Amino acid sequence: MNASSQHRFTLPFPIEDNGLIIGGVSVSQLAERVGQTPFYAYDREMLSQRIAMLRAALPADIHLHFAIKSNPMPALVQHLAGLVDGFDVASAGELKTVLDTVMPPDKISFAGPGKTDRELRQATAARIVVNVESERELSQLAEIGASLGIKPKVAVRVNPDFELKSSGMKMGGGPKQFGIDAEIVPALLARINEWDLDFYGFHIFSGSQNLRAESIMEAQEKTFDLARRLAEFAPRPVRLLNLGGGFGIPYFPGEQPLDVVRVGENLRNIVPDARKDFPEAEFVIELGRYIVGEAGVYVCRVLDRKVSRGQVFLVVDGGLHHHLAASGNFGQVIRKNYPVLVGNRVVGEAVENASVVGPLCTPLDILADRMELGHARVGDLIVVLQSGAYGYTASPRDFLGHPQPVEVLV
Ligand SMILES: *Cc1c(COP(=O)(O)O)cnc(C)c1O
Repeated sequence: MNASSQHRFTLPFPIEDNGLIIGGVSVSQLAERVGQTPFYAYDREMLSQRIAMLRAALPADIHLHFAIKSNPMPALVQHLAGLVDGFDVASAGELKTVLDTVMPPDKISFAGPGKTDRELRQATAARIVVNVESERELSQLAEIGASLGIKPKVAVRVNPDFELKSSGMKMGGGPKQFGIDAEIVPALLARINEWDLDFYGFHIFSGSQNLRAESIMEAQEKTFDLARRLAEFAPRPVRLLNLGGGFGIPYFPGEQPLDVVRVGENLRNIVPDARKDFPEAEFVIELGRYIVGEAGVYVCRVLDRKVSRGQVFLVVDGGLHHHLAASGNFGQVIRKNYPVLVGNRVVGEAVENASVVGPLCTPLDILADRMELGHARVGDLIVVLQSGAYGYTASPRDFLGHPQPVEVLV
């Protein structure tokens, strides 16, 4: 039996001697090298390949930014600094991480509601672009600019008047805490010269985790149209047009990868017209999970095998506290299993139906619920795939006070 027929998902990593290979190293050896389980491992070469694939699919006129909230591990961000055109940050903490790289400040943007005075001062002093999400931010930035003697660079984050259809997470359209409603942006732009600010352009982000090329294509077309309408009210030609992102990755059985080539072909058709309307603008797509999600795994070790009323439980040394998303508690409505396998026994001699549970005293601490897995023994390594985004930093790691996981870039 091969791995894909057993697991009903495709393995993004090679297998040797029945062990998963991450960054050229078997997962068992990697565990020895790391010196502990649980850990997160990110495959450097896969990250590079992913960017190369995106570059080939998208027109050269579209610049690629990495949204670092999906994975702010400093070594990974340093690696990506040489591969992408810019970074998007969402806090002063993330800003620090990207300012430690070679990325030029005007290729860094800062989005997020509720930016503090201190964050706005840091952003202004760093000379990055702030995606403003309210009138309060505009006036506050103007004050900060005056006091620092620096003209703050601003782009207006627009809450669009459309949605990214069939999105895992909607972040635009309707009432939202993100951005400024499209219908009030013209009036705001008419007044923007009241503030002494350096207007760059627009940031229009409509959603996340989308696997349907048509939905993304439609949103991108609507984004260009909205930007055209708003640009008429702008104080100067648009220099930055951030089209958002939304590219999803398959997590669950039956999900198909996004057809990025189709998205790219459509962009090749629509970008030349947009280029005429925005001759000075840098067009940006910002992606998080699409760049890093598949390149990462979470690895933990089987501590115990229990059978409760006929159901096999593999109790591991990691769980919800390290990987909230895989437990189903980070945005899922109905819990579904992430792709999980026995990393040192990829194709088991025997296959069994087992649940993988963590050490926490809550029934929510599940990494796999009644899945087909190779017959695992105590000491075996359980690997959760698709774990490169929203893993380590998106989990409540202090909950119950167990040891912290380690992160490595291999
Ligand atoms: C979270 C976020 C992203 C990244 O979303 P992914 O689903 O990881 O690609 C991009 N832009 C903004 C503004 C975000 O808030």
